[in-house]
Amino acid sequence: MTGKVYLVGSGPGGLGLMAMRAQEVLEAADVILFDQLPGEEVLSSLPTTAEKIDVGKYGSRHTLEQNEIEDLMVKYAKEGKRVVRLKGGDSFLFGRGGEEMETMREHGIPVEVVPGITSAIAVPECVGIPVTHRKWASQVTMLTGHEDPTKEESALNWRWLAKSPGTLVILMGVKNLPQITAALMDGGMDAAKPVAIIERGMRVDQRVTLGTLTDIAEKATAVGVRPPAIIVIGEVVTLYRDGSEGAMHITE
Ligand code: SAH
Repeated sequence: MTGKVYLVGSGPGGLGLMAMRAQEVLEAADVILFDQLPGEEVLSSLPTTAEKIDVGKYGSRHTLEQNEIEDLMVKYAKEGKRVVRLKGGDSFLFGRGGEEMETMREHGIPVEVVPGITSAIAVPECVGIPVTHRKWASQVTMLTGHEDPTKEESALNWRWLAKSPGTLVILMGVKNLPQITAALMDGGMDAAKPVAIIERGMRVDQRVTLGTLTDIAEKATAVGVRPPAIIVIGEVVTLYRDGSEGAMHITE
């Protein structure tokens, strides 16, 4: 009697941007494994009937390692339980959902994936920044800034990224921002390229910092930018509008 695992993305913040299917599987869950990225509104409304486990994999403060989380998912599923692994945004975009799916496959555990609205697109768009635009960006590249570009064995080709047209959307890039902007300028990207950093997108304490490739790292340090934040690099950033014009979608 094997249970089932649901890999659920809760969206960028707030219940309103979560799929109805996600709500359904949460209501029927026996166990919910979550971290803090879904945000207060989603986490405070989790059903009381399910066993809830905070795996607390937030920034660099890991309370549970990835393999320990997967072991728990396997354990509960093998007990016949409906297990929801709940994550912010979409669980397959820099969310390790793909690895979790593979592990469940190895154990013969059925998996249902419930897609979420990814912060990589939704957070910029809710401050008026479209990641593509007919005039300015026919390409969008989403990448993790988790790796220091000066590291020899980087999985990313920064020279190629510096030359690529369109928009760059960087997740997990706050810590390495000085190295990232330096690597892009070294690779030949225009130093005047507009950059926006959106911290805690779609939360009440959202904050946007604007600059160019040359000065954004300095500005970020000056104002104390902290994760979670989305960094957008490209001409589309000039379409940014602040919330005073009524375009914002803040849900908490
Ligand atoms: N799977 C998630 C991303 C997980 S990686 C998704 O699809 O959205 C974690 C990174 O996502 C953070 O470091 C940050 O770069 C970004 N992020 C997620 N939610 C965010 C939010 N509400 N505001 C700003 N950045 C966010």
